[in-house]
Amino acid sequence: MMTLREELKSCQRLVIKVGSNVVIKPDGRCDTRSLRILVEDIITLQESGIEVILVSSGSVSLGKTYLKEHTPRNGRVDLQQSASSIGQPILINIYSRLFEENQGICSQILLTHDDFRNRKRFLHVKQTIDVLLKNNIVPILNENDSIAYSKNTVGDNDHLAAQTAQMVNADALLVITSARGLYDKDPSEPDAKFMKQVPFGYDLEGIDTSKKTSFGRGGMGSKIHAINKVTPLGIKAILSSKDEERFVLNPLTKDIGTFFSPKNHYDPELKKAWLLSTKKPNCIVEVDEGAFFALKKGKSLFAKGILSVSGSFYKGDSVDICHDGEIFASGICEYDSKEIKKIKRHHSDDIEDILGFRTSPEVILTNNLVINEDIKDESIS
Ligand code: GLU
Repeated sequence: MMTLREELKSCQRLVIKVGSNVVIKPDGRCDTRSLRILVEDIITLQESGIEVILVSSGSVSLGKTYLKEHTPRNGRVDLQQSASSIGQPILINIYSRLFEENQGICSQILLTHDDFRNRKRFLHVKQTIDVLLKNNIVPILNENDSIAYSKNTVGDNDHLAAQTAQMVNADALLVITSARGLYDKDPSEPDAKFMKQVPFGYDLEGIDTSKKTSFGRGGMGSKIHAINKVTPLGIKAILSSKDEERFVLNPLTKDIGTFFSPKNHYDPELKKAWLLSTKKPNCIVEVDEGAFFALKKGKSLFAKGILSVSGSFYKGDSVDICHDGEIFASGICEYDSKEIKKIKRHHSDDIEDILGFRTSPEVILTNNLVINEDIKDESIS
C-alpha cells in the first residue's frame, strides 16, 4: 500500500514532468526501462486514487535520429519541428503500449502557448483533461513542437508543466530530472549543500542554475523558474532525480529530492487581477434578484437567473454582471453571448435541447467570479 510523504498527504491531482534525458537514451532511442517504471508508478498512483497528468518531452531527441541532417539543440527550427513530428508518434505509441500492458490507458494532448493565452482554448483543454481524468485516463502532454515557433511557443516543458499544473488546479508538480535536486551552489563545487526543503519565498537568485542537462531545452534555471510559477498558487513542487530506483514513487513517498513549499493559501487576488484586467468592455450579463443574492453568497450563475445580455463575447471572456442597473461583479462565461441569449431564463437541464450541446450546467462558475468588494455579502469568507 502506497503512502504519500507527509507534505503531500492531501494530494489528489498531480502533474509529473519528465525531460528528454529521462525518456531518451544518449543514443537517441527510447529508454524503455525508465518509461516502464514511469508508467507502473503512475498506475500505482492511480490505484491509490491520485489523478495524474504527465508532461513528457522526448519527441525532438527521438525524431532527430531519423533525419539526414544534424540537428543540434536550438539549431534550425525546421529540423527541430520535423524531428518532433517524427518522434512524437513513436513516443506516444510506446507510452500507449506500456499503459495497455499495465491495464491502463493514456491519451495525447499537444499544446502551444496560444492554448493557454486564449481563454476559450484554455477552457476547452481544461475541460478535456477533466473528462479524461474522470475516466481514469492519463493525459500525456507535450508542446506541439512541429507547429510551435518563437511567437507561440511555451518555451520548454518545465514551463508547459507549470502552466498545466495551474490550469488543472493540481495539488503538486513533480519534476524529474538528471540532478538529485537543488544545491545551494553549483553542485560540482565541493562545499555545495543539497537542499531538501525550500521554504516559500526563499531567495533562489544567488544560486548558479546555469548548468544545462544534455538533452531538452531547459536547465536547472528553467526548472526553478517554472516551480516559482506554481508555488505562489498553493501548488507544492518536488524536484527529483531519474536515477532513483522508483523515480516517481520514491520522491512522493520518501524524503527524497528537493521539496518546494507553496504559499499557504491560493491567493484569490491573483485570479481577481487577471479577471479584471482581461474584462471585455461593454459586455454585460444582467441577472435577476435571486441570482444577485445567490452570487453574493458565493454561488455560481445559472441561465435561469439571467435576464439579458449585451455586447458580443465568447466563451472564456470575462464580462460584467449587473443587477438593477448596477454592476456588482465580473466573471468568466462558459458560453458565448449568442448562446446565453438563447438559454437565459431556462433551467440548466434544458440547455442541451436548446443549443444541441451543454458544456457546463453553470453560465459562470463561482471560482471564476469576482464580486465587487463594497457589495460583497458579509457571509462570504
Ligand atoms: N517538447 C520537446 C520534445 O518533446 C522538449 C522540450 C523541452 O525539453 O523542454 O522534445
